[in-house]
Amino acid sequence: MIAAYKASFRKYTLALCAMAAAGSIAWFCSGQLAENIFEQRLNNVHDDFSAAQVEPNTQIDKALEALGRFDRSSQECSGEQYSQIADTVKNFRFIYQAAVQLENGRICSSYGQKITSVSAGNESNRILVKGRTYEISSDQATSADTDFIIISQQSAYVWVNKEILLDNMNLPEEVQLDLRGPGGMASITSMNRQPLKLQEPFPLEELVTTTDKAYVAFPNNRNELISVLSVALSDLTALRWKLFVVLAFMLEALVYIAWRIHSYYTSTVVQLRKATRANKLNVHYQPIVNLRTGHLVGAEALSRWSLKGAAIPADVFIAAAEKSDLICELTRSVMRQVAEDYSTYFWACKDFYIAVNLSAQDILDSTFPDFVASIMATYNLPASAIAFEVTERALLDHESASIQLQRLRAYGHRIAIDDFGTGYSSLSFIESVPVDMLKIDRSFITKDKIAAKDALWRHITHIAKALKLEVVAEGVETQQQLPHLASEGMLLAQGWLFSKELPAHALARRFFQCPVSLNPQTD
Ligand code: C2E
Ligand code: MG
Ligand code: MG
Repeated sequence: MIAAYKASFRKYTLALCAMAAAGSIAWFCSGQLAENIFEQRLNNVHDDFSAAQVEPNTQIDKALEALGRFDRSSQECSGEQYSQIADTVKNFRFIYQAAVQLENGRICSSYGQKITSVSAGNESNRILVKGRTYEISSDQATSADTDFIIISQQSAYVWVNKEILLDNMNLPEEVQLDLRGPGGMASITSMNRQPLKLQEPFPLEELVTTTDKAYVAFPNNRNELISVLSVALSDLTALRWKLFVVLAFMLEALVYIAWRIHSYYTSTVVQLRKATRANKLNVHYQPIVNLRTGHLVGAEALSRWSLKGAAIPADVFIAAAEKSDLICELTRSVMRQVAEDYSTYFWACKDFYIAVNLSAQDILDSTFPDFVASIMATYNLPASAIAFEVTERALLDHESASIQLQRLRAYGHRIAIDDFGTGYSSLSFIESVPVDMLKIDRSFITKDKIAAKDALWRHITHIAKALKLEVVAEGVETQQQLPHLASEGMLLAQGWLFSKELPAHALARRFFQCPVSLNPQTD
């Protein structure tokens, strides 16, 4: 009992550990997977963003080049210069305004008027790279529009409208873009977002997580600006949880399937099938004794099987075999073994028989009688050498059973009803089923019942006599039972009083000691 509790405790602890391990693996993998997915997603966004940058970059290059060719030596901005600057802007959709600074410091702009300064004045928002200055301006005095990137090269300036630029990039709503200068200088951030705080130095082209963001930084071959694409860490965490649920479910399902497969392959039936096919099943024989002479008249073949060193009770593994399709295979294996043992040890023992137990499936197997005949022929045995035992339970389908048993009898085998008296059936079945022997179940001849001349015991012996069949008393355990058996005319008996089941060679030794003493044996 305690061992069973221990085994099931071990089983459930193991199952819990496997589930916990699967959960941890799922959590780890979901983290990795979520990061990979986000990294891939940001890579894709960056590819789109790089493609979308080509047109504005070309326009900026062209505008700055055109503005660079301006004559800056004049003292004032002429009307012609104003309109030339305005024309430059007009042709480029991304450039909102432009300006040129004359040599004397005056600034001529596409606004058509002089402006005093183009700087937004905030040093921290200015990036100087490859001779160009990028400056973010959200408070441009010369325009009602607010968000610009002012790009200047030497004395030429262009205002790029951030909103149009971002529209063109088509950045997903949740992705923030920061443009960083070399050496960690100020950043230009996409609309209405706080610049990303990066811990320097940050690696390029791999996902980095901070306390609130996950980002990938991409170098830009064109101008050494670094584009940092970021998402909120909560998005990554949400994805991780979703993946965790899916992965955990899949892994738990895998653990469960593995568990079931393991249980299947370690199940009694599978092990028993293996043992049957490998001839690892033993057949032992329990003698049947003539009470008058003390001679062994026969023996019952009983299968024996051990799993991992522990003997499994016959009724347990036979019941398991009967529930599957294995029983027919097992019976045939027993049949082969019995024939071999008989031909080895008892071939000269005239009238000695071995009884083989049959299950319902064997009786209904139409090929079984022919199989038996072929085995008997192979070992050159007379049919009288083998009898068959069937229980009343195995004869539920009287008609088919009767046909099959009749075929066996036609070959010359005798049929015994095993455990007689314990079946459900009325005695009428004996008329329809061909039978030669009755084996009275041991429950009727227990010491007390037999001594008290129990009503059932008397009833059962009367039936046996009336049927005029050969009768074997099963399960005889004590000397005290013998006179009661004799007084009822019982001639044959089987039980631990005479012997437990023996290997074939020991049975042969016992046979040749005949007549056996009717004292308890210790083999
Ligand atoms: P069974 O055919 O009635 O076999 C007799 C059972 O009673 C055997 O149990 C035997 O060990 C036990 N027995 C014999 N003498 C005594 C006794 O004096 N006292 C007591 N208490 N028991 C005694 P076992 O070997 O455990 O077999 C149980 C059942 O398993 C058998 O009952 C039989 O129905 C079945 N069985 C065993 N081997 C085979 C087989 O190869 N094929 C089939 N179909 N059934 C088998
Ligand atoms: Mg039996
Ligand atoms: Mg029996």
